[in-house]
Amino acid sequence: PQAGEELLRVEQAVKQFGGLRAVSGVSFTLHAGEILGLIGPNGAGKSTMFNLVSGVSPVTSGRVLLRGQDVTRLPSRAIARRGLGRTFQHVRLFPEMTLVENTMMGGYARARAGVVASMLHLERREEDSLQAAALRQLERVGLSEQAWLQAGNLPLGKQRLLEIARALVHDPVLLLLDEPAAGLRFNEKQELSALLRRLRDEGVTILLVEHDMDLVMNLADRLVVMNYGEKLAEGTPEAIQQHPAVREAYLGG
Ligand code: ADP
Ligand code: MG
Repeated sequence: PQAGEELLRVEQAVKQFGGLRAVSGVSFTLHAGEILGLIGPNGAGKSTMFNLVSGVSPVTSGRVLLRGQDVTRLPSRAIARRGLGRTFQHVRLFPEMTLVENTMMGGYARARAGVVASMLHLERREEDSLQAAALRQLERVGLSEQAWLQAGNLPLGKQRLLEIARALVHDPVLLLLDEPAAGLRFNEKQELSALLRRLRDEGVTILLVEHDMDLVMNLADRLVVMNYGEKLAEGTPEAIQQHPAVREAYLGG
């Protein structure tokens, strides 16, 4: 994508769970080359928004456009193929498998109908090129040395980096990260910040849900604040820190 191109447009997104409106008419855009932080208290609707954008859960109403194309009703795999990579709030790894295999799984899920089926049907040539792609992404996130270890043996900070490698395996233009710093130590957070900056400089646009305010304020070019399913505010980190309603709802006055 060209710098400044509109990569993602969310229009009046609504998600209703029975009587609960988890996302209530939220709109925002994300441009190529940006890191957009999505913040808000627990239960504000941030993870639900990720699920709407990535097609994991269908919108009740509203639209999602990826690079100008309407992807609102597409299944998650089709959206992934159009250039969206994501991680989940809770680490989802295969602990018995190596880092390489875990990273390759991001590719199977995208390339084929089902994970298990694709493992069986993948041709040798495809498998080799996917393995090479996995190794490149592990190198990118700084996990080359551990590539052939079992994922379950990694400390949490490295598991989170591994999840990012898996999301990157098919070179997404847009990366959605749901609380990537949760549970990380200070040094691991520094490492993660450096990685996300590097990815942005390499042309990956990032939508980031994060509770660590220091981290997200330092990293994000712009922030969207959600509260009770609604968009409460939007702006630069500086403007958001001064925003009266945000301070009241979220930053503790
Ligand atoms: P956040 O990520 O900002 O903490 P979530 O998007 O996880 O918030 O949740 C928003 C609201 O929607 C919460 O009240 C949560 O309990 C509710 N919710 C999330 N997923 C579901 C679901 N699958 N079914 C019913 N309610 C849900
Ligand atoms: Mg969440």
